[in-house]
Amino acid sequence: MDIKHHVIVSTLLAIFIYPTYGIFALLVFLGGVLIDVDHYLWYIVVKKSFSIKKAYKYMKDEYHGTRNMILIFHNIEFWISSLIISYFFPLLFPFVIGLASHVAMDLIIFFKYRCTHPNPIAYSLIRKYIFR
Ligand SMILES: [Zn+2]
Repeated sequence: MDIKHHVIVSTLLAIFIYPTYGIFALLVFLGGVLIDVDHYLWYIVVKKSFSIKKAYKYMKDEYHGTRNMILIFHNIEFWISSLIISYFFPLLFPFVIGLASHVAMDLIIFFKYRCTHPNPIAYSLIRKYIFR
C-alpha cells in the first residue's frame, strides 16, 4: 500500500474523531501511517543499509509478497497488545483506529494484488515461529 493512501485515510479518520479525542486524534497517524516504519527497520537489519531511498525503492519496485519478512508492527500479537493497552488507557484508542485502518488497507491490497505486501503468515509471529 502506498503511504499516501494511508495518510489520506488517517487524515479523514483523525478529522472524524477529533471532536471526541481532541489532540489525541493525531494518534491515528501513529497507528495508520508510521507503523510502516517496520519495513524500513527490516531493511536496515537484513540489507545492512540506512538508505531510506533504497529501502523505499526495494519495497516498491521488487516483488516482496512472498519474502519471509519479520515486520514487528504488522502482526496480530502487536495489534491485540495495542487493543488491550487502549482498553486501560482509552485516550490511546485513536492509535488502534489508525492501526485497524492500516491493516485493513494492507490486507485488501494483498488479496487484490498479492505483490505489495508480505504473505499474511507474517501477520502472526506465533504462527510463524511456533506452529510452522
Ligand atoms: Zn503496512
